[in-house]
Amino acid sequence: MLKENLQEVEKKIQAACERAGRDRSEVTLIAVSKTKPVEDLMEIYDAGVRTFGENKVQEMCDKMERMPEDIKWHMIGHLQRNKVKYIVDKVALIHSVDSFRLAEEINIQAKKRGIVVPILVEVNIAEEETKFGVTRDDAIELVKQIATLDGIQIKGLMTIAPYVVDSEENRGFFRKIKELSIDIMNQNIDNVDMDVISMGMTGDYEVAIEEGATMVRVGTGIFGKRDYSKV
Ligand SMILES: *Cc1c(COP(=O)(O)O)cnc(C)c1O
Repeated sequence: MLKENLQEVEKKIQAACERAGRDRSEVTLIAVSKTKPVEDLMEIYDAGVRTFGENKVQEMCDKMERMPEDIKWHMIGHLQRNKVKYIVDKVALIHSVDSFRLAEEINIQAKKRGIVVPILVEVNIAEEETKFGVTRDDAIELVKQIATLDGIQIKGLMTIAPYVVDSEENRGFFRKIKELSIDIMNQNIDNVDMDVISMGMTGDYEVAIEEGATMVRVGTGIFGKRDYSKV
């Protein structure tokens, strides 16, 4: 059942890549498994997925302990500073860095362990009040500040687009993120890559790929609806 969902998503990713003249290898599918039981994750793992996204530190750590070691775990949710220490050396990428204070804590914990932590800067491109992330205008300044911390490597940008019924409504936002990433790249800031653009969820990942996403975060489309009452 979940395998069929995955195949469907995979087909749509391939079609979107083709429409955009992009190679499938340019886009990483992150299976967003928050609230879902390990059995569901294992079904997707057995189908070949090795990249999972979670938004809560405790839940992620529990699942890490119970699942194979070759999985790359992505922290995609809002991260509290006091929890950074639990995941900093366990995650492949932190998508949700939206303040210098959070970056400083990641840097402290990274240096304690002698590692460099890859992160994305989260941009609230539609400037929705309910969402985390810096505004487009503040993003460049934040990137420059974080670039001074040598325990962190900035890999790119992440955004959560508004919830919409018609994914076309988000095309303009995705385009703006791509433009911002090019603007930042052109500034040639030391310690900053803009290789990653993490955007697109179940409702809009195809449009996101057409507009340049290199990582899409798909939950519902693979695992089905989430039941928050069980969490
Ligand atoms: C839950 C979540 C997703 C996945 O959302 P779906 O609509 O279920 O695909 C993607 N990104 C973030 C940051 C999330 O919290």
